[in-house]
Amino acid sequence: MKLLEDRIHTDGQVLGEDILKVDRFLTHQVDYALMRAIGERFAAVYAQAVVTKVVTIEASGIAPALYTAEALQVPLVFAKKAKNVTMNDELLSTEVYSFTKKLTSTVQISKKLIEETDKILIIDDFLANGQAALGLLELMHQAGADVAGMGIVIEKSFQNGRQQLLEKGIKLTSLARIAQFENGQVRFALADDL
Ligand code: 5GP
Repeated sequence: MKLLEDRIHTDGQVLGEDILKVDRFLTHQVDYALMRAIGERFAAVYAQAVVTKVVTIEASGIAPALYTAEALQVPLVFAKKAKNVTMNDELLSTEVYSFTKKLTSTVQISKKLIEETDKILIIDDFLANGQAALGLLELMHQAGADVAGMGIVIEKSFQNGRQQLLEKGIKLTSLARIAQFENGQVRFALADDL
């Protein structure tokens, strides 16, 4: 998605070997117009898939996922990373290792929110080693729901998340695919939505 790639060139900051900081439009400050365009693109790719719910994980997946849900006219459900006192229902639950935080957390969704009859589009901000994505797939598996595919805003294609998802037969739509970082600059691979 050219708009997104241009924005990464303008506002993205490469940190060290393998991290891209995008806190001016996605992970801290959020550009709603860009998020809406991203949501509309995901919705267009999955328009024929009869998606019944969009699922993401808090926090940075929520903005692109919400606009995707709006464009598809379906509810958004986001997995929570820490249990709180209001989560007193039966839960779908799994452990996810966070690439950026370097710690494992329990991610949970209330069982009543995902049904066996649901067809789910999973959305997330980044795909690195695929742990968050695999965690969300596991929750959908526990619910017995079908997964139509996965929409990723920024994929770092030099890490192995993509390969893990494709091996599982998951349809993957990454709007920006980073082939590598070269001297602090981003070099893109061909995105999935073209
Ligand atoms: P994975 O589980 O695929 O290894 O990592 C995905 C999660 O880690 C994303 O949901 C995102 O929160 C975080 N993440 C991974 N790589 C990056 C990165 O380069 N920049 C930022 N800002 N977050 C990242």
